[in-house]
Amino acid sequence: GHISSDIHKDLFTVNSPNVVYTETEIKSKYTYRTTSVTKTTEGKYVAEPKETVYDFKVDRKVGKVGMMLVGWGGNNGSTVTAGIIANRRGLVWDTREGKREANYYGSVLMGSTIKLGTDSKTGQDINIPFHNLLPMVHPNDLVIGGWDISSMSLADAMDRAAVLEPTLKNLVRDEMASYKPLPSAYYPDFIAANQEDRADNILEGSKASLAHVEQIRKDIRDFKDANGLDKVIVLWTANTERYADVIEGVNDTAESLLRSIEAGHDEISPSTVFAVACIQEGSPFINGSPQNTFVPGAIELAEQYGSFIGGDDFKSGQTKMKSALVDFLVNAGIKLTSIASYNHLGNNDGKNLSSQKQFRSKEISKSNVVDDMVAANSVLYKKDEHPDHTVVIKYMPAVGDNKRALDEYYAEIFMGGHQTISLFNVCEDSLLASPLIIDLVITAEMMTRISWKSHSDGVASKDYKGFHSVLSILSYMLKAPLTPPGTPVINALAKQRAALTNILRACVGLEPESDMTLEHKLF
Ligand code: NAD
Repeated sequence: GHISSDIHKDLFTVNSPNVVYTETEIKSKYTYRTTSVTKTTEGKYVAEPKETVYDFKVDRKVGKVGMMLVGWGGNNGSTVTAGIIANRRGLVWDTREGKREANYYGSVLMGSTIKLGTDSKTGQDINIPFHNLLPMVHPNDLVIGGWDISSMSLADAMDRAAVLEPTLKNLVRDEMASYKPLPSAYYPDFIAANQEDRADNILEGSKASLAHVEQIRKDIRDFKDANGLDKVIVLWTANTERYADVIEGVNDTAESLLRSIEAGHDEISPSTVFAVACIQEGSPFINGSPQNTFVPGAIELAEQYGSFIGGDDFKSGQTKMKSALVDFLVNAGIKLTSIASYNHLGNNDGKNLSSQKQFRSKEISKSNVVDDMVAANSVLYKKDEHPDHTVVIKYMPAVGDNKRALDEYYAEIFMGGHQTISLFNVCEDSLLASPLIIDLVITAEMMTRISWKSHSDGVASKDYKGFHSVLSILSYMLKAPLTPPGTPVINALAKQRAALTNILRACVGLEPESDMTLEHKLF
């Protein structure tokens, strides 16, 4: 049978004058407390506590949700699909190490907990699954579809990916065989030439066109209709593309971008065409690869339509470690002076990245991830001073999806001493990325049901509105987080998780997790 989402519904309610539950909504009044700082003429600071009151409203009806993947037949696409089927059916399979059962390990929403509060009697922490914080779609309930330039069924694609155990593959094979990706837009100039031999499922025309935008929009609508869906979230997990040049009058504004698509301009990538189609269709679109899909024109278009976008590049292995470890080192007062990162991998992603222009996209995405942590510490680093940082990626077919990441962190410690930390991280890349796909889709869906109002002089504004089109709340899952134009990028992993947790807590009128635990210190 189908393991459904209803198991944990409403695990808790909030008992507060600021929180109201109705049949269809959770409404909360939340006081956001920040500190406003001014610099005096003598170069000192004055810090002033500031309070802003917001109303949040969460629509409790999740509805039926579709997830459409671009690059569905790839390693990630086939692995996440098989994984969801296995969870849905509660499958158990044999491995050489014994029986294994389906799980959602590696998903922050499905695999981790948050502290709800402390027990009123014992004073012990009460932790609940993250997934129970707000009404969210359960991954088992996602209806899955998508596109690929390769026509293989998902069953054959799963064999080609060589990620899952044969015993598991046998259990899901029939269902996987019934899934066939829709034809996609293929503009050979954007991905490595070595991908050409798999491109046998493509829309006519090798440049951007309105026809492609219309076809993708129609595919989304047809998928919705065929499955009776309330909404569809689209996620790019297709090959890494080269960067598109941002050119005045071509893709720098929403208007120029649309004009360039119509004219079939060479600098408009398939991923940007998908983004435009989703924005116009009102389907959230997330980019799991490193290229600059969201050229300024695409961001402006999303703002005009009030459609959600998020990106870029899944933060799965090496970079996730980096954004936790560097946060720790720099905040421990240790002066990190160099990071040398090597990778080798043997899957199709590695093959595509063995081409220079596509590697360059990845290099850019991997290289800025410590900037915010370094810039925040003016004790250790002078203005514009950075640790040395290099990233190397090599294609080694033999290791397949089992990516190797070797990192050396070199730091200066007390009185001229040195600390060297060497990491050797080995894991199936697609098994790390699949739960992130799930987290991104669940979170993006949830954001379509959250709205807010501001207060001034104790009076709430008239209408609720949605969050900004650029969903920076997705940052925890992403290597190069896209943020609303002109706003800071946060890479530090702990801060990203705190933002995700605390924004969702605010929506049910709960204070941020402060970790002060004064109740255990002042008695
Ligand atoms: P993959 O090569 O196995 O899968 C990509 C799929 O996209 C292929 O099936 C390919 O045929 C298809 N494709 C290429 N161009 C397309 C287009 N225009 N339209 C539709 N389909 C298209 O790669 P993967 O290992 O699944 O990774 C997918 C992407 O995710 C890569 O860009 C990779 O860099 C990125 N990523 C992966 C991880 C990870 O941990 N696995 C982490 C960060 C980023």
